[in-house]
Formats: sequence, C-alpha cells, structure tokens
Amino acid sequence: MKVMVINCGSSSLKFKLFDMEKSNTVLAEGVIEEIGKEKSKFKYKSKNMKKDEEIVKDVEAKDHTRAVEQVTKMLIDPKAGIFKDKIEVDAVGHRVVHGGEKFSKSALITKGVKEVIKDCFEIAPLHNPPNYSGIEACEAILPNVPQVAVFDTAFHQTMSKQAYIYGLPYELYERYHIRKYGFHGTSHEYVSQRGAEFLKKDIKKMKIVTCHLGNGASAAAVKNGISIDTSMGLTPLEGLVMGTRTGDMDPAVVTFLMRKEHMNADEMDNLLNKKSGLKGISGISNDLREVMQAASTGNNRAQFAIDIFCYRITKYIGSYAAAMGGLDTVIFTGGIGENSVEVRAKVLEPLAFLGIKVDPARNKSKEKEKVISTAGSKIKCIVVPTNEELMIAMKTKYVVSESNNMYR
Ligand code: AMP
Repeated sequence: MKVMVINCGSSSLKFKLFDMEKSNTVLAEGVIEEIGKEKSKFKYKSKNMKKDEEIVKDVEAKDHTRAVEQVTKMLIDPKAGIFKDKIEVDAVGHRVVHGGEKFSKSALITKGVKEVIKDCFEIAPLHNPPNYSGIEACEAILPNVPQVAVFDTAFHQTMSKQAYIYGLPYELYERYHIRKYGFHGTSHEYVSQRGAEFLKKDIKKMKIVTCHLGNGASAAAVKNGISIDTSMGLTPLEGLVMGTRTGDMDPAVVTFLMRKEHMNADEMDNLLNKKSGLKGISGISNDLREVMQAASTGNNRAQFAIDIFCYRITKYIGSYAAAMGGLDTVIFTGGIGENSVEVRAKVLEPLAFLGIKVDPARNKSKEKEKVISTAGSKIKCIVVPTNEELMIAMKTKYVVSESNNMYR
C-alpha cells in the first residue's frame, strides 16, 4: 500500500509518500512554500534521485489545489517521479490539528468528518482552515483515493475531566467546549511507543513523560500507554515556554496589558503567540541555537530565556510524576529535544532527587536514538527522534484497511 501524507499550513504544503509494504520506505517527499504568491517554491526529492540531490524550483500554486496538482505532476515526472503515467496512491493521510471532542481516533474522511473539522475552525483558526483546504484539494485531484484525517488532539482524548476542565464557570465548557485538548498528539504517541520498544518494555506498564521540544513545545504524561495529561490546552499556547509563545502565565496579565497598552484581542493574540517565548524574553530569536550563541557571548537576557525554558520543562516533568504516581522514563524529542545536549542536561539535573542521573558521555553521543541516563539511574532518560509523518501513514493504512474489512 502506498500512502501519501499531507500537512498543509496556510501558505505551505508538505508531503511524504510511503511504501507501507516495503518497510515503510519513503519514496518521495517535498514541500511547496509561499502558496498564493505569484511564484511558489517547490523542493522535492525521491528515491529515484541521487542521495543528496534535491530539485528546487519555482512553480505556480495559487492555492492548495494547484499545489497538490504540482505534487502529482512531479510524481509522474519521467526522471524524478515515482509513477509511470498514473498516480497509484492507495490512501492519503492528512494531519489535522484540532479534532475537538469528537475524535479520539483517526477517521476516514466523509462529509460528516469534514463538518466537524470545520466546526473546529473557531478554536483552531490558524491550523484547521489550511488542513481543510488540503483535504478538499486532494479530493479534487485524487477523487477516488480514500482520505484519512489524523488529529493532533486525538491521543489526548483519554485525559480525565480533572485534567482537562479549567477552573472557569462550568457552563462555559458546556456552551463553547472550552477545555484542555492538547496537541502534538501524533508525536507523543509515536515516541512513547517507539521508546518502549527501544527499551524492550511493555508500554502498558510504564509511566512516561514525553517532552516534544521544538519551536512549539509540549510535555505529556503517558501512563500505561495512555495520555493522562499534557501541557498544551484549548490552543497550543498553554504550557511550556516556546519559540514565540508564552506558555503558562497568570491570565490576569492579558486583561492588565489590554487596558494599559490599549490592545485589542487580535493584537493580544499576536503578542502571546508570535512575540513571546524565547524570542520575547531574549530579544534575539525564537531559534534556540541563536539564543544559545548570544548567551555564550555574555548576553544576559539570552541566558534567562534558556534558564526559564528549561525550568518550566523540569517543573512539568515533576508535576507529571506526581500525576502518574511515579515515573520510569523521560523521553526527549523535537528539534531541541533531539539535538540539544545542554537543554537535556539542564532540564534533568534538578530531578536528581527522583533518582535521575544523566550520563554526560551518553548525552553527547551522536546516536540519534539513545539512552542518556547512567546504568544506575532509577529513571531511564532517552532520546527518540519523532516521526509524525510515519505515524500518520501507519494510522491511515490502519483506518483504510479496517474500512475495507467492514465492507467486505
Ligand atoms: P522543530 O520545531 O522541531 O524543527 O525545532 C526547532 C528548534 O530546534 C529551534 O529552536 C532550533 O534552534 C532547535 N535546534 C535544532 N538543532 C539544534 C541543536 N543542534 N542544538 C540546539 N537546538 C537545536
């Protein structure tokens, strides 16, 4: 079975084509950026090209439908393509950020599923509309191919009410479904499962904290294979300090600033989501590498930003140990979690009281998947590179196979 995974942003489309029959091999992958502009940028590589070769070119993609058309055109290119003259994709898996309370699993896309994705536009205005456009684009260009929605929120639908209800009047939850949903679910699920496999342990008997640390960052408490709590909330703003997002703070700051600085709701949204976090604190960048570079030359604000970022993660790990009644594994993933030796060490050192001991040599090792705690550490700390696209492809294959069985 060949599965194409699609991840649409407002002006971008990322895709990856997997052969699920051949050890989940990636046949082709690429991205179209600046969709909607006169010229869009297309980057593409496939297994029929040389190892480090990449095609980079300008294409016309005024909307997501044209972008999908450009991808299919490339996939039948005589040199770099994968198919001869006809696209032979068996299913398309779409990353959909918000599935609200309706989806605790991936779903075969139907009219009804599309309606629910649309209902979530209000609570995920940046993400769900482009995800929806990607679905409609694929329906238009590949009309007979089954499409599956894989939701970032689905993995966290196992949280209990005590974890997901905010301390607001309950009627507001009933009226607007305001509650914690959590995001990065595909990644937390993937790394917790892969981490258990790597450690040769039964996930059903594990208490794991997964830390997805990238430009967006979140932690999850995964007990017996199930998400029982996570740091992001109604939107991906709550929780950890991120590249440009505040994470947790006193909600009164919002009303205080709106009054003092005469800001409206959109300006406030922009401040909290785009101008805060590592970027806002350091005044340098949202990119941790640049912030670290500045800190190493004596920039105090850059150093604060790193300290605050790490302290918050440490606190979440500690609180999730309490929420799960114990902890046996901490997993790091995401651009920062996978690459920053310093962040991992700084996050874990204060947790020595729980029995965590980091092995500096293991932490520095170039292995991608690795244990970074000492042999005697009571809690295993590991790094697992995330692979959200593969997880989406696997879920897509599963949903399509199940629905075929149903109609057989
Ligand atoms: P992501 O959103 O998962 O792509 O992660 C992006 C973040 O990872 C940025 O803040 C990068 O600075 C950070 N990052 C990537 N590589 C490294 C590295 N080697 N050391 C520290 N941070 C890194």
